Amino acid sequence: MTSLAQRFTVGLTGGIGSGKTTVANLFGELGAALVDTDAIAHQLTAPGGLAIAPIRDHFGAAFIDERGAMDRARMRGHVFGNAAARQDLEAILHPLIRSETVRAAEAADGDYVIFVVPLLVESGTWVGRTDRILVVDCEEEVQITRVMQRNGLQRHEVEAIMAAQASRFARLAVADDVIENNRESAALPELVQALHGRYLELARAL
Ligand code: ATP
Repeated sequence: MTSLAQRFTVGLTGGIGSGKTTVANLFGELGAALVDTDAIAHQLTAPGGLAIAPIRDHFGAAFIDERGAMDRARMRGHVFGNAAARQDLEAILHPLIRSETVRAAEAADGDYVIFVVPLLVESGTWVGRTDRILVVDCEEEVQITRVMQRNGLQRHEVEAIMAAQASRFARLAVADDVIENNRESAALPELVQALHGRYLELARAL
């Protein structure tokens, strides 16, 4: 267990289908500790999750299903177009996501910590919290092709998801480091290896 203040930390982000998971896994193979914030958010509202009791208290038992998980479909319907309800849900979830990600990072083995945060730019609270921000970047056309293939979605469905995310420009504006992942090529491991070397140097210099 190492206090997060003494660990070198990187926030990794990128648009849908940019290759965040692919890149994060390559860093993981080299010895970085990975903390997946989406997985943590999901666990909080799964059966036995820390958010279940406060959600039941605030929104009512109808929002908890028979397995003891948050009823996602019902909650989605409830907060859709209801800013106050959405804020209440976020007021429950965000502090828990924050404390649980810190806990996971402090408990993780690894030369340094990479937080994988798909909505790092959108959430606002991550910028300034890590030593570096790494953006996995690719052309929008590449994102569309990948996600259509992977998820079996129509072009307009992928475009709608992308329109709801931060722009490529907004992500690049907060980046300290960028990994370009346009081509389905073998160059990615080399790019990751080079940046990993740099992060190790920075981690040792802490
Ligand atoms: P999401 O935000 O949707 O979770 P992501 O940013 O984590 O996506 P990945 O899941 O890593 O992206 O990649 C999206 C798809 O593109 C996957 O099917 C992955 O295998 C493929 N892919 C990503 N980068 C490359 C690459 N350099 N070469 C070949 N395939 C790739």
